[in-house]
Amino acid sequence: IKLNFTPVLRASREAIGLILVLQDVTEEEKLDRQRKEFVANVSHELRTPLTTIKSYLEALDEGGALEEPELASRFLGVTRQEAERMTRLINDLLQLSRLDSKKVRFHKQPLKPIEVLEAAADRFRFQCQQKNIDFHLSLKEDLPRIYAARDQIDQVLDNLLSNAVKYTPEGHSVSLSARQKADGFVEVAISDTGIGIPQKDLERIFERFYRVDKARSRSMGGTGLGLAIAREIVQAHGGTIRMESRYREGTTVRITLPPCEPEVTSS
Ligand code: ADP
Repeated sequence: IKLNFTPVLRASREAIGLILVLQDVTEEEKLDRQRKEFVANVSHELRTPLTTIKSYLEALDEGGALEEPELASRFLGVTRQEAERMTRLINDLLQLSRLDSKKVRFHKQPLKPIEVLEAAADRFRFQCQQKNIDFHLSLKEDLPRIYAARDQIDQVLDNLLSNAVKYTPEGHSVSLSARQKADGFVEVAISDTGIGIPQKDLERIFERFYRVDKARSRSMGGTGLGLAIAREIVQAHGGTIRMESRYREGTTVRITLPPCEPEVTSS
C-alpha cells in the first residue's frame, strides 16, 4: 500500500488539515512483476533453441561432422527442428500480442456446434489412432447455434485437443462432448485419461509459459502458450474456460460459448 500525505493550508500557511491517500498498489505490482517475468521467459525460450542451433552448426563446421553424411544429416535435422520451434513460438507470441492489443478481427457468425466439433474430431482421429488412443465424440442433436468466429474457435479446439493427445499415454482415451447449460450457453468438454495436473499447478495453468513439466512440454513441441491463447479467445467471445484435473488420472477442460440471439437461432 502506498501512503501519501498532503497538508491543507490556509492562505496564511496555517495548517488546517491533512489529506491522506491510501493507494492499493498490489494489482499494479502484480502486473509489473508478470510483465518482467514474461520478458525473461520469452528471452529464455528464444535463447534455448538458438544455443542448440549454434552448437550443432559449430559441430558441423569444426567437428568434422560434415565428412560423415549420416551424422551431418542428423545434426541438420536437429537445427531444423529447433528453427521450427522458434517459428512456432514467435507465431504464438505474435498472436497473443494481437489479442492483447485487440487487433484480431473476429468474424463472428452463427455456427452449428455439431459441424465445428465434427470437423475438429476429424482433424484428430488420425493422430489418436497413431498413438493408439481411443477417441470418443458425443454430441447432443439439439444444440443451439453459437455466435462465434470459426477460425478462432477451431484454434481453441486444436490447442485443447492437441494437449489432450500430447499428455495422454498410449492405450488411454480422449473425448470431446458438448451440451447446453441451463443458462443457454453451449459447453464443450475435452477430456482425457492422461497424466493429469497436480492440484498446486492448476490455478496457474493458464498463465503464459506456465508448464507442469518444462522438459516434457518441450519434447512434445509445446510452446507453453496454447492455453493462454485459448483463454484469450474464449474470453473475447464472452465465454469461460475451466480446467479440472487429477494428477495421474486425467484432465477435463470445459469451455462455454454464447448461443445466438433467439431471433437468429430460429431463422
Ligand atoms: P504446452 O505447449 O506446454 O502444451 P499449454 O499452454 O498448451 O502449453 O499447456 C500448459 C501446460 O499445461 C502444459 O505444459 C502441461 O503441463 C499442462 N497441460 C495442458 N493440457 C494438459 C492435459 N490435457 N493433461 C495434462 N497436462 C496438461
